Amino acid sequence: MKVCKFGGSSLANAEQVSKIVDIVLSDSQRRIVVVSAPGKRGDDDTKVTDMLIECANRAFVGREYGDILAAIIERYAEIQRDLNLPAGIMAEIEKDLRFRLAGDKSHKGSFLDCMKAAGEDNSAKLVAQAFQSRGVNAVYVDPREAGMFLNDDFGNAQLLDESYLYLYRVLAHRDDIVIFPGFFGYTRDGKVATFPRGGSDITGSILAAAVKADVYENFTDVDSVYPVDPRLVPEVKCGIAAMTYREMRELSYSGFGIFHDEAVIPAVKAGIPINVRNTNRPDEPGTLIMQARRVDPGAVVGIACADGFCSLYVDKYMMNREIGFGRRLLEILEDEGVSYEHMPSGIDNVSVVLREKNFDHDCEARVIKRIRAEMSPDDVMVQRGHAMVVVVGEGMHCTVGLASKVTTALAEAGVNIEMMNQGSSEISMVFGVKSEQRTQAVQSLYHAFFTTQL
Ligand code: ASP
Repeated sequence: MKVCKFGGSSLANAEQVSKIVDIVLSDSQRRIVVVSAPGKRGDDDTKVTDMLIECANRAFVGREYGDILAAIIERYAEIQRDLNLPAGIMAEIEKDLRFRLAGDKSHKGSFLDCMKAAGEDNSAKLVAQAFQSRGVNAVYVDPREAGMFLNDDFGNAQLLDESYLYLYRVLAHRDDIVIFPGFFGYTRDGKVATFPRGGSDITGSILAAAVKADVYENFTDVDSVYPVDPRLVPEVKCGIAAMTYREMRELSYSGFGIFHDEAVIPAVKAGIPINVRNTNRPDEPGTLIMQARRVDPGAVVGIACADGFCSLYVDKYMMNREIGFGRRLLEILEDEGVSYEHMPSGIDNVSVVLREKNFDHDCEARVIKRIRAEMSPDDVMVQRGHAMVVVVGEGMHCTVGLASKVTTALAEAGVNIEMMNQGSSEISMVFGVKSEQRTQAVQSLYHAFFTTQL
């Protein structure tokens, strides 16, 4: 059995919804369909979820919301009209939205979640009708009835473990096609709670794990996952055919933007292969992400790059002999609530790489003051404006000379390496470079690994 999730761009208009129906019907293994709320129809359009948030915020403070509500309803009405679906569904959708708007406003997070969830919920009802209008035995399934129970961390909810059993019982052995709204579930006391933004991916991955699917297909608007960000290397054409979960994690950690890491945890834990595919080009095989794959020596699967890092450099003669030095340094960061990303070190110095967004100038001043007072360093400084370039591939552990290939490529491109880090897992190498050199860095590595013979 396959669980398929369709993102907002696949729900944007009637033409896209028809593609969903065609795709699902073209493979009898596709039994569970998770849908997002309608997304953008073009660059200057607004996602239905964003419109719902705006509407909810206005309603919460008692401001007029009629125009935005009408615009939301129109997004669904356009699909209903263009697909010639029975008009009754529109009355149902409008009633649902008004009911939510009139709901309990004593807790803002709960009220907002109830409104946000309307995007996916009504999408699923409409899509179920689109299937039915083609004579297909498809049904909308309510997450509450299916047992999708979440905790009450509104906007950031987590699945309650017992849900897997309920979902299995309700969904695993059915004759019909299930249309399931993504992004939300219910608390034990019946309140709507949503996952973080983009959370329909989480729903899809939970359902795939719950029913022990053969594959979790994630349909989006790209053919596959690319080995480099096409915005940095526009000529990249060929996507990644297969990669492991670990490779995906390394790539997405560095801003590769495939999924939230959290989104795929349920599928990863259950060992379900994930297939990223394109709704607009369904014949493309996409990218398969799985537990293990055959690796060729030297093969690099992708090069990721993320901006917005800084390094906290601390130098002290004989640091390597000072027991507890690293712990005390990290304790100062811990007291400030700052997590660290990498920690390359020498004998007498250490750099702690941090995300700039977690380390503002006030925080920096407090940390430096404490390091000076408590650790008596010879030098301490912060350098901002770094990017991390990550070269990823399971084949690294059986390849000699890979680091030299990276450093040669960077040197030839005139990119200065500020920091290097390779974990003992040998699945990735991280290079810190100045932000302004990141495009050159990624382009040179792309050419070294993907366009030149190994
Ligand atoms: N509609 C929600 C969002 O825009 C969830 C999703 O599309 O996955 O974040």
